Parts: sequence; C-alpha cells; structure tokens
Amino acid sequence: MDVPFLDLRAQWADIADEAEPALLEAFRSCGFIGGPHVAGFERDYAAFAEARHCIGVGNGTDALELAMRAAGVGPGGEVIMPANTFIATAEAASRIGARPVPVDVEDACLLIDPERIEAAITERTQAIVPVHLYGQCAPVEQVIRVAEGHHLPVIEDAAQSQGATRHGRSAGSLALAAATSFYPGKNLGASGDAGAVTTSDDGFAHQVRLVSAHGSIEKYSHEVVGLNSRLDAIHAITLAAKLRRLPAWNRARRAVAELYAELLGGIDGLRLPETLPGNEHVWHLFVVRVDQRNRVLDRLHSAGIGAGLHYPQPWYLSPAYRHLGYRPGTAPVAERAADRLLSLPMFPHLKPQQQERVADAVRRAVR
Ligand SMILES: *Cc1c(COP(=O)(O)O)cnc(C)c1O
Repeated sequence: MDVPFLDLRAQWADIADEAEPALLEAFRSCGFIGGPHVAGFERDYAAFAEARHCIGVGNGTDALELAMRAAGVGPGGEVIMPANTFIATAEAASRIGARPVPVDVEDACLLIDPERIEAAITERTQAIVPVHLYGQCAPVEQVIRVAEGHHLPVIEDAAQSQGATRHGRSAGSLALAAATSFYPGKNLGASGDAGAVTTSDDGFAHQVRLVSAHGSIEKYSHEVVGLNSRLDAIHAITLAAKLRRLPAWNRARRAVAELYAELLGGIDGLRLPETLPGNEHVWHLFVVRVDQRNRVLDRLHSAGIGAGLHYPQPWYLSPAYRHLGYRPGTAPVAERAADRLLSLPMFPHLKPQQQERVADAVRRAVR
C-alpha cells in the first residue's frame, strides 16, 4: 500500500530508546508474569483513565467478560449493547452464557441510541454496555439514566477510546466499570494481545482480579472458578512507554481528522464523521459514508490506499449469531450504515501529503 491503513512501526520508532533496553532486561531476568512493570502500568493507566483501579488482563474480550461477570451477568441473562460494534462485545456476553441484545444506533455518530434502550429491557436484562466507537464516547450519562430506572449496571466498552473524554471526564471512568483493549492497532497498543478493566469500585476491582487469576488472590486459596487472563510484563513495558506519548499521539490524530475534514468537505455523495456534542474525540478510526461503498473500496485499494470497514455486517447478522434468530431490519440505522461506511487511513504519524493522496483517490473513486 502507498498509504497504509495504519503504521505501527512509526510508533515503535518513537518509543524504541525507552522500551528496548527495558524489554531486553525483562527477557534476561525472565520476569514475565506480574512484577513491578505490570503494577506500575496499572497505576499509570488508572490515573490516565481517572479510575481508582486498573486490572491488566489478557485482551479486550476477556476484559469485557470479566467486567460483565463482576457486574452480575450470568447464564440465561441478557446484555444490551449497540448493533454497531466489533463482535467481541457480543462474544463476551455469549461466553458467560448470556444473550447479547442489539439496540440500534443514532445516525449522526453511529453510537448506541439511548432512546431505544428502554424497549429492549426485559426481566432477564442484567447489564447495558455502551461502546465508545471509533474514538468517541457514547452518551453514557443518558444510558445510565435509563439503566438506573431498572437498577441495571452499565459497563463501558472503551476499547477504541483511550484518552477520549465526555463532558471533560475520561472514557473508562464514566460508569460502574470499563473494559478496554490494548490490541496493537488500538490508540494504545501492546506488543501483542492485552487489555484492562478500570473501575473506581473497590469490590468490583477485587472481583475482577480474583476471577482473572484462577479465582485466587492469595496463593493456594481458590475462592471461585476463575480463568487465566493476565497482563504480561513485556506488554506492560511497551504500554507504559506508549502511554507517555498517547496524549501527543491523540493530538496528532485530531489534526489528521481536521485536515481530512478540509480536504474531503463538499464531495458529493460523501458524508464526513460527526462528533457528539460534549465529546473530545480521539479518532481511533476516521469513518466516512459513501454510496456504492464496495466499488469505492476496490478503487481505493487499486490506488494503493489502505482503507477498511468497521463493520461491514452488524454482529447479530453474522453466521456466528444465526442461532439468535435476528433478521435484517432489526436495527435499520446500523444496517444501512454498514453498507455505506468506509474507514480511511488514520494514525498519528500520517503525513499531510499522504492525506492529500488519500483525498485525491477518494474524490476519483466516488465520482
Ligand atoms: C478491539 C475491540 C474489542 C476486543 O478487544 P481484543 O483485545 O481484540 O479482544 C472489544 N470491543 C471493541 C469495540 C473493540 O474495538
């Protein structure tokens, strides 16, 4: 690709001086599990997310599962979530034996529509999981208002939103707890799979840590049947170094988004992404909407532009979820958007000249 979708090597170049000696030392001392790097990063990330606790875990899907379990989700329950999200949000509920329930999104930002949640609540509902999609927060306070009327816990899926804020407060601190992912391509990415749960509730944090480590806080004492989902020391080293650059990287993403808006404004048949009032966006993805999306995507790929789709099919219509019996038309706004959305290259080190190449290719492709 002439202009890649993502450039992780440029991020590594920014942190190499700091991370490489620390990684070499970790390999030589063989301190792979737990230890000061993990504890240090958990402290730093909790502060960054404005939460009292951060529990590092194996990946974002585990973080969601652990948070749902700690919130009381169990077999036979239902978990409300947006129709437009990565399938992992639904998988986490399924792994517990609960049913993921899609709620349609609003058309402007493609985030969960709080007005549609009430109608999806049943006596089996056990939690609501708004997703901070593409780098901006869902309207969590409106979701919480609906949830409170039914005494339901709210868990943020903050996998795409490290550093985002809503009304000045950080993603990861807006509800009872949040799950995030440090998959390498996220705004804050590890050297492999990793994730975390953040919360300011001491009991909730204890429960997540307990279940994440074989149901055990004290060695040889196993209080519940848990799982093994830990943050590795090598990932903590990478993450600590990247976290220090994250505010600057997110500022760079914002500048990329502003230039895209200038370059792509006024193109017939192309809709630019919007920001929900009250949000500070961190642009994990820059998602436009176009007619004949598949044709446009092919043309961009032929022109050497790394474009992507997030997501081309709502999760509940995928073969994996056929057994739930949802039909097309379940969430019309999300389904219509799925046919039109298109993610353009977006990363902190993207250069203005590269963005001009993208914009020229998009202009030609939508014609
Ligand atoms: C990436 C992602 C996840 C899952 O994270 P993994 O670390 O890949 O398991 C969950 N939800 C959303 C919205 C994501 O983007």
